[in-house]
Amino acid sequence: MKKRYVLTFPSDTTNEPITYNLVKQFDIKINIIKAKINAGEEGTLLLEMDAAQENIRKARKYLEENHIACQSVEKKVHWKEDECMHCGACTAVCFSQALTMDANRQLIFNTEKCIVCELCVKACPLKLFEIHFSE
Ligand code: SF4
Ligand code: SF4
Repeated sequence: MKKRYVLTFPSDTTNEPITYNLVKQFDIKINIIKAKINAGEEGTLLLEMDAAQENIRKARKYLEENHIACQSVEKKVHWKEDECMHCGACTAVCFSQALTMDANRQLIFNTEKCIVCELCVKACPLKLFEIHFSE
């Protein structure tokens, strides 16, 4: 089970090897997406954890015991439709066919099919795709 979480560290635990412990003790594969941690200050980490549900549950308990808040987040692709020039460049990279052109050469975004691979983010010359995170 792969899911994203935001960890918020209080200022007195930022020197702890928390991510190392998550890997070693709970057999979690971790991908750090964003980090803002300075010694002596509150820090935040956006990371992806990939592990069995039971291991994630135990890891979250461990974090709680160490006074580290752990909030799950979902990511979604946001398309700035109003600015689209319907060039179709993004459809070439969208394997899941969430992005397609209709008969009138207009881009259609079927969010149900989107697997959030993020390839369209780089593919659009106008940078019209953004990744949004929510709880
Ligand atoms: S994130 Fe991937 S699947 Fe979703 S629209 Fe973009 S290219 Fe297609
Ligand atoms: S690449 Fe960008 S401008 Fe072109 S169709 Fe896709 S979203 Fe629209």
